[in-house]
Amino acid sequence: MTRALPQLTPLTEPFWKGGADGQLRLQRCAACQRFMHPPRPICINCYSRELTWEVISGRGVVESFTINHQPWRPDLKDPYVIAIVSLAEQSDLRLTTNIIGCDADKVHIGLVVQVRFVAIEDVYLPMFEPAVLRLPIAL
Ligand SMILES: [Zn+2]
Repeated sequence: MTRALPQLTPLTEPFWKGGADGQLRLQRCAACQRFMHPPRPICINCYSRELTWEVISGRGVVESFTINHQPWRPDLKDPYVIAIVSLAEQSDLRLTTNIIGCDADKVHIGLVVQVRFVAIEDVYLPMFEPAVLRLPIAL
């Protein structure tokens, strides 16, 4: 069984399909430059309708999380981690997501993560995995 997918609308489709190239895209207001999530028809800060979709770093920090051990849904294998990730671009910019790519007991508040998309049909679910620290190399 495949995972239950979000219902796409013209407003949300750029978010759910935007990860096809591995880049996380969020809505941004052209007038005040604030990022927003979830997508909206007008800016929540200045009420402008000049909204665009912009590629962001895909980096963030686990702000809060829970580990699910109950088999509530046949399409999700337990245990799995549901987390709120605070994104690097803006202090109040958060995604509710899953942490993947590590054991559930390795997740902690403050864990630095990076986006990793899980493609199902034509939807790219933005999940996060522990970030790989890339130190400069000396040549
Ligand atoms: Zn605005």
